[in-house]
Amino acid sequence: MSVRGGPDRAVRALPVDEVAPGVFVATAQAYTTTTTVVVGDDGRCLLVDPAVSVADLVALARWLGERGLTPAAGWSTHPHWDHLLWSRAFGNVPRYATPRAAAVAARDRAALAAAVQDEAPGHDLGLFAQVEALPGRMIGWPGPRAVVYPHDAHAPGHGAVFLPGSGVLIAGDMCSDIEVPLPDLDDPDPFGGYRAGLSTLAAIPGVSAVIPGHGRSGDAAEFRRRLAADLAYLDAVAAGTDYPDPRLTEDWLRAEHARALTRARATDSG
Ligand SMILES: [Zn+2]
Repeated sequence: MSVRGGPDRAVRALPVDEVAPGVFVATAQAYTTTTTVVVGDDGRCLLVDPAVSVADLVALARWLGERGLTPAAGWSTHPHWDHLLWSRAFGNVPRYATPRAAAVAARDRAALAAAVQDEAPGHDLGLFAQVEALPGRMIGWPGPRAVVYPHDAHAPGHGAVFLPGSGVLIAGDMCSDIEVPLPDLDDPDPFGGYRAGLSTLAAIPGVSAVIPGHGRSGDAAEFRRRLAADLAYLDAVAAGTDYPDPRLTEDWLRAEHARALTRARATDSG
């Protein structure tokens, strides 16, 4: 442990990119997890998937404060623990998810909170996973139009957010440059469900930038490239074929890949 930097090291600034005017992406070290900040009217902002460590949320709150931004609402893209976090510093504002995701978050709250304690301990669990079902498809907030595209790829009730004004797609855990597709293997049809989710995203008109939940943002051409790469991966794995995807770089990803293949082969022989 280095003494250099002192206690402030833990809350060092997160790298933040502006991917389109008024749309900022902060990237945490753990799992290359992204948080998206959409700037709205009168210093308000929409906060999507704030993550991941306690120190990361402190750094995010500081970053917002330095720019005079106050969250007006939160959005959780899907009911996995690293997308349901919150800090008191962000205020007591409505936090939304799709109705299906909100129901799963409520049902699985205890198990999800246990995962937080394992992976990113110290969060205020009283604020964890407190998302409400968004009525309709538009996030009501004082800022750019934010349209939700629900599907069931990767997790039930996954809700991508599209900002038609800037063409930015906040994809949640889809369209990553560093992770292969991770189908929801609890779903009766994980590969079909994932393909349907990709089709939903591919049909959104006017995407000029994509922000994955883990990884780097990309432009329109990169969005199309990732959709094609994800479909190629899914087609191979769903057919039970091992596939040398260049994104299979870490042990946990190779383990998920093996689980998906096992599932596909079991389905084939059943
Ligand atoms: Zn996820």
